[in-house]
Amino acid sequence: VFNFSAGPAALPEPVLRLAAEEMLDWHGSGMSVMEMSHRGKEFIAIHAEAEALLRELLAIPANYKVLFLQGGAIGQNAIVPMNLLRGKTRADYVDTGDWSKKSIKEAGHYCTVNVAASGKGSNFTAIPKQDAWRLDPDAAYVHICSNETIGGVEYHWTPDTGSVPLVADMSSNILSRPIDVSRYGLIYAGAQKNIGPAGLTIVIVRDDLIGQALPITPTAFDYAQQAANDSMLNTPPTYAIYIAGLVFRWIKDQGGLAAIEAHNRRKAAILYDFVDSSDFYTSPIAREDRSLMNVPFKLRDESLDAAFLKGAEARAMKQLKGHRSVGGMRASIYNAMPIEGVEALVAYMKEFEASNG
Ligand code: PLP
Repeated sequence: VFNFSAGPAALPEPVLRLAAEEMLDWHGSGMSVMEMSHRGKEFIAIHAEAEALLRELLAIPANYKVLFLQGGAIGQNAIVPMNLLRGKTRADYVDTGDWSKKSIKEAGHYCTVNVAASGKGSNFTAIPKQDAWRLDPDAAYVHICSNETIGGVEYHWTPDTGSVPLVADMSSNILSRPIDVSRYGLIYAGAQKNIGPAGLTIVIVRDDLIGQALPITPTAFDYAQQAANDSMLNTPPTYAIYIAGLVFRWIKDQGGLAAIEAHNRRKAAILYDFVDSSDFYTSPIAREDRSLMNVPFKLRDESLDAAFLKGAEARAMKQLKGHRSVGGMRASIYNAMPIEGVEALVAYMKEFEASNG
């Protein structure tokens, strides 16, 4: 089966096989990782290794904390302003689609949101160029969604926000390529695409931005308190952290993020090149802003959508239906999707076009 789900999404098969092998007895401990105390030496080693691997893969500078939390990226939509306003009352947000809008709406409960730029003019098929952004010099931070999972637009550049910290929701493109963490004040991501099982949320935050949370902030979501307790102020999502560690190890074994990026670029090119060469399928997204992770495409004749999906299902290609808000199709091709999956999809798209075009 090739699973094109947007998330929770396919994980690398060797990771799942190893997890299955270790399920009942982790490294001779006689325990499943699920059964371990988060304060026991076994789990502390698993947690420390996962963090060390993530730091190595992303070359995270020493003045950044890595937190393994719960609550998902949607939780962070509230937790970020609670922690990062630091006495200010305003924050900048760039609206590039569905996920940005959710962040904007939630932040509005805690501060005055300035929508510094919006993709609305292009119907969210492009990322607004930075020269059109209207940044507020008094903003506590500037928030972006680095990859819009539903709309399929992705930043292929890092915004320059001067001394105002840049905050990114990287849920759907974290670990898909190298990034310069030092350009960001804070990065957050739900795990369920490129990292591991749902339930784990990763936060990477610069030291000087923490410690001034609003008094209403729940203790479990105060970055400074979690950092002081190695993300163990409450019970962390232990099994998800363990799987994330196995995924990080797998990425390292693939050659790290530069090799992963090359692989992801090859996969995306196969799909976009075919869509562009065809009159039967279309991609609405501006070429320079196309996501390497989530590829929405449409059949020009929408009345064929159901037949297309049925045929895909029959060929063991799952979850290709586009999000209900945009329709059409969407192929999510995260790190774990092999090139063969994309080739199988394109072969099927050609076959479908030949018999219906
Ligand atoms: N942000 C982005 C970009 C997403 O793709 C998703 C989807 O999972 C979310 C936020 C929501 O994350 P969660 O469901 O983990 O709260």
